[in-house]
Amino acid sequence: MFEDNDFIKTCDVPGPTKEAIRAIIVYKSEVKSTDVVVDCGCGTGGLTCEFAQRAGKVISIDTNPEAIEVTSKNLKKFGLGDNVTLINDDGANALKDIDNIDIAVVGGSGRQLENILDIVDEKLNPKGRIIITAILVDTKVEATNKLKSLGYNPKLMEVNVSNGRILDRGILMISENPIAIMTAQKR
Ligand code: SAH
Repeated sequence: MFEDNDFIKTCDVPGPTKEAIRAIIVYKSEVKSTDVVVDCGCGTGGLTCEFAQRAGKVISIDTNPEAIEVTSKNLKKFGLGDNVTLINDDGANALKDIDNIDIAVVGGSGRQLENILDIVDEKLNPKGRIIITAILVDTKVEATNKLKSLGYNPKLMEVNVSNGRILDRGILMISENPIAIMTAQKR
């Protein structure tokens, strides 16, 4: 597990997904060394790097070329990347060419969430897992309704993390933005 400050960042690309959230996602994904993982909306590469360390193969997609560049730099920084393919495209398009997915992480979808979930559902192996992170209330509702309509039984967890800043006069807790983690498993 890497620390948030270890990642190279650039101002136009969101991420990395914070350490505690990455830990929950990795745990919930039950990732195995033979798994094929898709990271749709790889951003800074926070989740891509975690999965690159643990999965058989990772395919990371982002519409923003700068996200692809910074993800590539972070993989190199951590000595990872041999098992990672980076694709600069919309997830709704790139996913059409990817089969046999064990874990699909959707960390960014723009207005394509329903489309992306339709394709993910087609390409996901039996027992495959879908993990969606959401900061907007609307995304939580849209994702939950879409997963239900596709026959999944989605679970939703909202995570509020505070980190201690140690000062001379005591410890100040600083909170991160709340984030929802939605998970669903294909039958
Ligand atoms: N999990 C990442 C942060 C994701 S930020 C990390 O740990 O670093 C969300 C990303 O999703 C952004 O970089 C954005 O460009 C991308 N994105 C938004 N809509 C997308 C889509 N339809 N297809 C692919 N990427 C998308």
